[in-house]
Amino acid sequence: MPDLLKKYKTMRDFGKTPEPAGGKPKRGKLPIFVIQKHAATRLHYDFRLEMEGVLKSWAVPKGFPTKRGDRRLAVQVEDDPIEYANFEGTIPEGSYGAGTVMGWDTGTYQVLGSEPLKALQEGKLHLLLNGKKLKGKWTLVHMRRRSEEEKKPQWLLLKSGSDVAAISERIDDSSALTRRSMQQIAQANGEQW
Ligand code: MN
Repeated sequence: MPDLLKKYKTMRDFGKTPEPAGGKPKRGKLPIFVIQKHAATRLHYDFRLEMEGVLKSWAVPKGFPTKRGDRRLAVQVEDDPIEYANFEGTIPEGSYGAGTVMGWDTGTYQVLGSEPLKALQEGKLHLLLNGKKLKGKWTLVHMRRRSEEEKKPQWLLLKSGSDVAAISERIDDSSALTRRSMQQIAQANGEQW
């Protein structure tokens, strides 16, 4: 078995970051998903899907589309450990991904019409999310590589199915895990927001 978390581990110093080191498999009936709001150098949302015992991950700079047909860029990044789904806090300056992380949404998901891993490998996932905030259908589609400089796989995150309510500012700034705002999470770690 290849260590799917090798990249995740080599990018981090667990003596410095409060992020989990991995190694605790979770087994529920349905696979979980998590969306984290991450105020790194650039604010983005990390969308993670449980697959193969890890969290397959995409950085979505502009967040989730809510109107059918709307699409957002989603850049695939390294796999994270399952425990990352419960992580909320501040990654210290000087560490990879420094900045505050909020557990923005969490729940279970299904891939419609295919096995999740097969759909991932084929580059198209018809997702049904059952989160605390987001419920409904979204689709992830792998885009063809456009240039040699493109190192990370680029995907599109599309709203499929029907529209969902637009995300209000209050909902956008409230943790699904703790109801805290980004500012409250940052301050709990003694960080300036
Ligand atoms: Mn991130």
